[in-house]
Amino acid sequence: MPDSPNPTARLFEADGARNPLDVLKRVYGYSAFRGQQQAVIEHVVEGGDAVVLFPTGAGKSLCFQIPALCRRGVGIVVSPLIALMRDQVEALKQLGIRAAALNSSLTREEAIAVRRALASAALDLLYVTPERAVTDGFAEMIGDIDVALFAIDEAHCVSQWGHDFRPEYRGLDCLASRFPGVPRIALTATADPHTRDDIVERLALTRARVFTSSFDRPNIAYEIVERDQPRQQLLRFLRRFKDASGIVYCLSRAKVEDTAEWLNAQGIRALPYHAGMERAVRDAHQDAFLKEEKLCLVATVAFGMGIDKPDVRYVAHLDLPGSVEAYYQETGRAGRDGLPSEVWMAYGMADVIQRRRMIDDGGAPEEIKRIERSKLNALLAICETAGCRRQAILAHFGEAHPGGCGHCDTCLKPVDTWDGTEAAIKALAAVYRTGERFGTGHVIDVLMGTVNEKTERFGHVDMPVFGAGKDLPARTWQSVFRQLLAAGLITVDHTAFGALKLEPEARSVFRRERQVLFRKDRAASGRAARGQKSVAARERSDLAGSDLELFELLRAERLSIAREMDVPPYVVFPDTTLIALAKRRPRDFVDLIDIPGIGESKRERYGEAFLAVIEEFEDGR
Ligand code: ADP
Ligand code: ZN
Repeated sequence: MPDSPNPTARLFEADGARNPLDVLKRVYGYSAFRGQQQAVIEHVVEGGDAVVLFPTGAGKSLCFQIPALCRRGVGIVVSPLIALMRDQVEALKQLGIRAAALNSSLTREEAIAVRRALASAALDLLYVTPERAVTDGFAEMIGDIDVALFAIDEAHCVSQWGHDFRPEYRGLDCLASRFPGVPRIALTATADPHTRDDIVERLALTRARVFTSSFDRPNIAYEIVERDQPRQQLLRFLRRFKDASGIVYCLSRAKVEDTAEWLNAQGIRALPYHAGMERAVRDAHQDAFLKEEKLCLVATVAFGMGIDKPDVRYVAHLDLPGSVEAYYQETGRAGRDGLPSEVWMAYGMADVIQRRRMIDDGGAPEEIKRIERSKLNALLAICETAGCRRQAILAHFGEAHPGGCGHCDTCLKPVDTWDGTEAAIKALAAVYRTGERFGTGHVIDVLMGTVNEKTERFGHVDMPVFGAGKDLPARTWQSVFRQLLAAGLITVDHTAFGALKLEPEARSVFRRERQVLFRKDRAASGRAARGQKSVAARERSDLAGSDLELFELLRAERLSIAREMDVPPYVVFPDTTLIALAKRRPRDFVDLIDIPGIGESKRERYGEAFLAVIEEFEDGR
């Protein structure tokens, strides 16, 4: 790879321009900062510490990359995953930025070359793992050189609250004492206030300025359905994305493997990913996901952190995550590039029982278990809401949203509610009368008056509640119990095989002091109407016929360049750049300046190739 002459070096040497906006335009090819990017960048360039809490896709990387380019010396980036560093570094090199990673995957010679570049001030950015960043050896290595800043990416890893806890992050506060004059910037897409407090405290950032933005992800469409025939439901969802990549999350490794196998049999290319797989295979699957354009990765939550693939078009959950935070993080991996993306989840009562079992059987102290149970309930409430999902999710993070987003299932197809006070009383009575010892299935049998071995053996057939719920179908009772659970009126005791128990609040329902409103479940097939058209088609739908044709040609060019260089296609150009090229059809290098995502380095590298595709297309018309 011809690393010199280096366009960035030239850019800076030529005119000494280290103005952030100039760097944004000339290196990244973007015309304006987004949101608070500029404020963060100016603060850090001035030497201030910062904590940056922006959602995925907001453009956090520029918040440390640009200050590193504007300040003297190398920017040290602490990043949790070695497997992703190569692509991160390659993407920066493509921009003409002098970047490298120092980690255990390098050969001896490679490591020596990086150290040399570091010592001779020939690097703009250096990526290291937290394990390395805290060693004395590393402190010594950078002791004599200029360090522009320390960036701590995925800073939520410092917190035990999230599921990405990495103990090594806790040692990173040593950077503050060892290098008191160097600004530090911690970044995360986690909105949870506990996590934020942990970041500030554990990383010794009490004097840092905290930048927070809205956590809304307007380009993500939310959908949550009751589980009915999960595989068929999933398949219907995936059929919307004919030429795009996405993630399907499952709770267990076995389910990951089974689902991936089944999807392949259905003609959808899918690969499994979980922590129990051999590392080499797992890494190969991750690599395929980054580099191929139409792949479904079926994974446990072991997959995803730090994945900066911008064109993940969908995220599906076949199992309920453990909290709203986890749900938000996992779904947040869709649509980093800002283009329309969809997230979908199927859930049912069995999930709740399974999650409760995981919490109760886990080794955590009772205090933590209580918090986890309430986190789970918060997610249930979002699943069962009759209102706007986006509003409910943001409310969980303390952010007000007017609702009616028009971009979630409940907004697109408003759910009806019904006065379920009578039904609630019957359901609660059935739980109570049968001794709070039975799971949903049996209690529904009692309500429906089903005579079977179990209802007879326990004498339930002789009770007044037996058959009291015949007026509603069993399916509705399922829904009633889920909603009673979400409303905190009952709880599930998995130690008693998922027995339903009454919560103290249930009393107010018995006394008719409280009206209970339920959402009406949709018919299982009621969802098919929306989303027949694939998202990929929708995102380009404002591309007229010939623009779309050109887009596909540009896409093919990008893929062949990416294959040759063995990098993910988005490292060459994101989709947004190709869309702009297809629409505006630049004729020469000067026209390219206005295309977002084409800075000076990329213009030199690929300008000619893409201009040629456009020219040939125009000539052929
Ligand atoms: P985050 O790390 O917050 O998830 P990224 O830094 O990966 O987000 O940025 C998401 C996408 O937005 C990237 O493709 C990036 O190039 C693009 N981007 C960032 N800042 C800008 C900007 N000011 N103008 C246009 N695009 C931007
Ligand atoms: Zn909505």
